[in-house]
Amino acid sequence: MSVVVIGAVNADLVVRVPSIAAPGSTVIATGSSTGHGGKGGNQAAAVARLGGSCRLIARVGPDFDAASLSCVDLSGVVHDTAPTGLAVVLVDDTGENAITVVPGANANLSPADVPALTGEGVLLASLEVPLDAVLAAARCGWTFVLNPAPAVPLPPELLSLVDVLVPNEHELAVLGSPASLLAGGAKAVVVTLGAAGCRIHRASGTVDIPGHRVATVDTTGAGDAFCGALAWALDAGHDLDEAARLACAAGALATTAVGARAGLPSAAELSALR
Ligand code: ADP
Repeated sequence: MSVVVIGAVNADLVVRVPSIAAPGSTVIATGSSTGHGGKGGNQAAAVARLGGSCRLIARVGPDFDAASLSCVDLSGVVHDTAPTGLAVVLVDDTGENAITVVPGANANLSPADVPALTGEGVLLASLEVPLDAVLAAARCGWTFVLNPAPAVPLPPELLSLVDVLVPNEHELAVLGSPASLLAGGAKAVVVTLGAAGCRIHRASGTVDIPGHRVATVDTTGAGDAFCGALAWALDAGHDLDEAARLACAAGALATTAVGARAGLPSAAELSALR
């Protein structure tokens, strides 16, 4: 079994600000740094950090730093002439963030880039890449975890293929109610709730998984850590409730370091908190 991640790879420019500027206003930053990001890259890094076997399907530019994903199988990464995607990440003093993404090479990911996925495994997808590429991958019949981020109305066929949909509260507001998503064919909807943990919605009812109290410094990438850990745990044979507990711990630990990947936990760190 293994995890395949399809999604964006970005370079991150992280800018620390006292507060996130309102439209039309200016804020002076207190610092900045560059890092590696993109939901696909982050989620693949999360699986690999946990010791899982992980292959990434993505498009990157000539500026891609393969060392940034050294434990991930990059045989599904296509090299494009467009630059690697860029994310400008504003992080305020409370750890809250606001992100603008320039897609670059990610926008050119196409169904033709998706290799045949045979056997069994978990496919984890996010939506910073074109929907038709995600749909082509989702048809492989693997357990399909979809992180609908950024949120767009989901094509009915894509929703019908979903085993676990993982939106945060903002994304859920765009997608519709958990009941409507279950009616559309998703087998489960796991809504992440920041520090409060997550809520699992299934036809049989809801289950709340509490969050963990940690020393949060930057919530960037918490959702990616959560999704990567969820896919890793499902691939390892855990049921959804236990996978969501492990994912909550991974999301919490990810907030304890600055940047999308610095706080990604190992399996040992995860079980210590779990
Ligand atoms: P996103 O990063 O996509 O906005 P959330 O903010 O809901 O998603 O975070 C994803 C998961 O990370 C949460 O379900 C929770 O498990 C964990 N998490 C996020 N923020 C915190 C926090 N401040 N303290 C503890 N855990 C957190």
